[in-house]
Amino acid sequence: MVDKYTAVWVSHSSMGDFLKCPRLYYLHNMYKSGKTGHKVSIVSPHMSLGIAVHEVLEGLADYPANERLNRDLRAKFEETWLKVSGKKGGFTNIEEEEEFKLRGKDMINNVIKDPRFLTNKCIKLKRDTMPCNFYLSEDHNIILNGLVDWLEYLPLTDSLHIVDFKTGKHEEKEGSLQLPIYLLLCNALQKRKVTKASYWYLESDKMVEAILPDLETAEKNVLEIAMKVKEARRIAKKDGENKVFICPDGAYDPVTKEGGCMNCRPYEWIINNDERMEYVGVGGFNQDMYIVKK
Ligand code: SF4
Repeated sequence: MVDKYTAVWVSHSSMGDFLKCPRLYYLHNMYKSGKTGHKVSIVSPHMSLGIAVHEVLEGLADYPANERLNRDLRAKFEETWLKVSGKKGGFTNIEEEEEFKLRGKDMINNVIKDPRFLTNKCIKLKRDTMPCNFYLSEDHNIILNGLVDWLEYLPLTDSLHIVDFKTGKHEEKEGSLQLPIYLLLCNALQKRKVTKASYWYLESDKMVEAILPDLETAEKNVLEIAMKVKEARRIAKKDGENKVFICPDGAYDPVTKEGGCMNCRPYEWIINNDERMEYVGVGGFNQDMYIVKK
């Protein structure tokens, strides 16, 4: 029987963690603080830059196409930046924050110079307080959730163009689950076909068209990983987390305070009350947010 409360929820981020290593999946997606009962998260300048720029651009979809360019995007960016300013955004000094803020301003300026498809009709996937989601498999009680940055409506073909805003410097890797997941979300939550997908690298102002996976392959690939996540959680429930969510390579040792890698170490430090981590507040999904002290 389907039940959203007992279902296993998977996303691009959680499956990405699982693929990196099961221990990282556990630390980022399952571990809860004994004190607050909250999950834990690390804030970083890169993440905050992404949040601020995405909020400005995605917010444009709330306005009619012909009014979007009348918005003062620079002012909106300044306002949005206040939400990530300082330690709560992962910035440990003013110089670092200014550097990232400047990069964000440049991205907004690029958008103002050439807004591309942002002035065309777009659609939004339905959602409530949670990210967009649907049953990837009712039989296995697995829900897939995620947010698609922008969906341009293509009137000539009555179809959709998925656009992903990129605020980082690195190009999306081949084999990434991001597009398959977006495609599945679009297919499940609205009726039009997706015929095009692109990444917009905002810093270099470069649009890169991506090859769309076919739906069947997308579903098969995503479900295969989601099932592995579900199975790992099942074993952990039965035999304990230490049986399944383990490091395949040089685990962190809380006694010597050594080992681990850049992905898991900050989480291990939080769990072990290491003074290298600093609590900076509660995040939007009720998680305890930390920064790495410099
Ligand atoms: S050191 Fe091990 S536990 Fe940590 S992220 Fe790397 S593989 Fe995973």
